Amino acid sequence: MRLFRNLAIFSVVAGVGLLPVVTHAYTLNSWSWNSSVSGLNYRWGSNLQVSGSVARTAFENAISDWSATPTKVYFSYNSGSSNTFNTINVADDALYGQKYTTTQGNVILYFNANINIGNNDITTANVARSAAVHELGHGLGLADTFSSPAIMNSSRNRAVTYIPQQDDINGVNAKYGY
Ligand SMILES: [Zn+2]
Repeated sequence: MRLFRNLAIFSVVAGVGLLPVVTHAYTLNSWSWNSSVSGLNYRWGSNLQVSGSVARTAFENAISDWSATPTKVYFSYNSGSSNTFNTINVADDALYGQKYTTTQGNVILYFNANINIGNNDITTANVARSAAVHELGHGLGLADTFSSPAIMNSSRNRAVTYIPQQDDINGVNAKYGY
């Protein structure tokens, strides 16, 4: 009898402790890819024609990072793609990247993602990769969030958080199914 009571108390405490697991922090834009995100294509912009640069390597890693997630997301190169990955050069250490999405209604037609090579922090290990993964997340229809841990958290430590996190994966799967 005594044992049963202790177990009951334990289960209540465990139940309360599990509650945060079901919450989420991701924010979704209203626009989405109309067809599946499995098979999104891209091409390199004018500044990233040659491999080996910090920004191009960052995008290459970001493509692999998103493609490796347990989501439908998969990117492949296509020289005729309207989705371009490129650089900008703006002397602004608060600007890591940018993304422009062209939509029709709530449907994404294409997006352009850029890494800011004018940011003095962009060559710090993992920072450009973090920026690239973040901008591709925008390209999928994820909005900025302010909760950690998430690649879409615009206040994240970019040297530490540089691949899609569980919250980002949950956001994509909420949008496109899995
Ligand atoms: Zn952002």
